[in-house]
Amino acid sequence: VKTGWNNTEWRQVKQRLAGICPAPDESEIVIRRVKMGPDEFGDTERVEVPPEEGFEDAPPEYRYVIRINSALPTDFAVWVLVHEWAHVMVWPIYGERDADHGPYWGIAYGKAYQAAYPTNQ
Ligand SMILES: [Zn+2]
Repeated sequence: VKTGWNNTEWRQVKQRLAGICPAPDESEIVIRRVKMGPDEFGDTERVEVPPEEGFEDAPPEYRYVIRINSALPTDFAVWVLVHEWAHVMVWPIYGERDADHGPYWGIAYGKAYQAAYPTNQ
């Protein structure tokens, strides 16, 4: 089932997204491929990174964790990754998930899509 998960397309898309569309707050973005229900494609959550000793009063820092259903074929998984990546691009600015794919998410999605599929420009 996992055939192709670590193939060139998948790795290149991850590199392009990270390079062209980093999180606006410079947070780390972690991608995990996990078992999910048959109707689930993926999701994104923001996890607070525990402060280092002596920095407890600093503003909170976050890490974004994108989970993708490991049963998906690569091209579908890439599409889901672009979708979830766009959530990360708007989350620090407009709040959690831009209320279900609002206009800011849509703009971010367009940018992420062009980063992931540069030949389609
Ligand atoms: Zn979504």
